[in-house]
Amino acid sequence: MSVNKILVAGAGQMGAGIAQVAAVAGLDVVMIDVADEFIARGMAGIQKGLGRLVDKGRMEADARDAALARITTSTDMAAGADADLFIEAAPESMDIKQGLFERADATLRPDAIIASNTSSLSVGKLAAFVTGPARFVGIHFFNPVPMMALVEVVVGKETSDTTVAAARAFAEAVGKTPITVTDSPGFVVNRILFPMINEAANAYHEKVATAEDIDTGMKLGANWPMGPLALADLVGLDTTSAILETLERELGDAKYKPSPALTELRDAGKLGRKTGSGFYDYGK
Ligand code: NAD
Repeated sequence: MSVNKILVAGAGQMGAGIAQVAAVAGLDVVMIDVADEFIARGMAGIQKGLGRLVDKGRMEADARDAALARITTSTDMAAGADADLFIEAAPESMDIKQGLFERADATLRPDAIIASNTSSLSVGKLAAFVTGPARFVGIHFFNPVPMMALVEVVVGKETSDTTVAAARAFAEAVGKTPITVTDSPGFVVNRILFPMINEAANAYHEKVATAEDIDTGMKLGANWPMGPLALADLVGLDTTSAILETLERELGDAKYKPSPALTELRDAGKLGRKTGSGFYDYGK
């Protein structure tokens, strides 16, 4: 099936990014969230992102306006009932995702593809919340979505080949390169990346070096484009901790336990860029 219209649940950093790249690629997009203020914040991010492209001469103002016009928003999932693809980009919580998938299952056409952008939860477990798990797949974008070229297409035990093909085609249609990954904790990239971020947080906790020096070390010594602690702040320290907790639980190995540096900041509500501070201060 070809995907012409998508329904994105969650207007946060990932949901808004997915809505943006899909609208730019010419797809119709319905973006939902639980309250108008979150939708407004998501739309403001998209407008800013596209505005920057226009300012840099990489997009015509008409194309920006056309992309924005392709996005509609709502707090009611019914607004996207005729979508070909549902992508969930709500917080990394099984309970929140369960509620969304059960509602999507009851709202969308039975042949619509149902996908999660989860960073670490089991696609197989999430698929159990819909009838016909053959149509369920992980479509894992990277942050920031407009800039990052990769999409992991995560294949659950019951995901059909047609669903995988449609998910890969969708990723390519929005300008990304898909890789196909078996459903396993952290998939490929986060399984490798997050233990490294955690080790940086542990080094910070043990006062091996300052956050700035740890990040400079990895940028200049390992050629990372940004340091691991700045990256954790970008991802969000809630999401970072949740991913590590999932790896620890699912792989049964204490080496993945989130560093106290991460959980202390998270518990203090310092979630990184989205709250204005984390390992670094971002001002208002
Ligand atoms: P976020 O906190 O920025 O955004 C989540 C949004 O979902 C918020 O706007 C929130 O109001 C909304 N929401 C909450 N409950 C909802 C509901 N029932 N229906 C609709 N919207 C609801 O989070 P994020 O960073 O965008 O992460 C979203 C998902 O993407 C998570 O599963 C995360 O693991 C995954 N992910 C995150 C990153 C990252 O770097 N942040 C990267 C890849 C994947």
